[in-house]
Amino acid sequence: MSELRELYQEMVLDHNSRPRNFKKLEGATHQSEGYNPLCGDRITLYLKMRGDLIEDLGFQGTGCAISRASASMMTQSIKGKTIEQAEEIFGAFHKMVTRDVGEPYDSDDLGDLEVLSGVAEFPARVKCASLSWHTLNAALEGKAQKISTE
Ligand code: ZN
Repeated sequence: MSELRELYQEMVLDHNSRPRNFKKLEGATHQSEGYNPLCGDRITLYLKMRGDLIEDLGFQGTGCAISRASASMMTQSIKGKTIEQAEEIFGAFHKMVTRDVGEPYDSDDLGDLEVLSGVAEFPARVKCASLSWHTLNAALEGKAQKISTE
């Protein structure tokens, strides 16, 4: 547990200071904005879809270290995945961060995202960690938010 906690701190600091895919994506087909009023986190997510495939993505925004790190890790974990795969990863991630502390969770789909399991100990941070994922869902669902056609 302490090993995972150390890794958690390292990864959050690293992704917060050097967020991956932190850019406005050229040629984005989908876009959505997310806001977490509890903490003030804001994110704009850009997706480039090809059919069901999330070909590329990027994000911009301001917020706390957890929200930035989580968004950064999310972009890494779902780039090149299908919508269905991304939904599975989100399902596993959501279960992990909202579980009661000490409850087991299924880490098969999670990869690096597992370092965020410590968020479950801080209920106020769960919304920070899941903001980017909810924004992803909105971007995928919202046909009205489709900003350009192929
Ligand atoms: Zn936050």
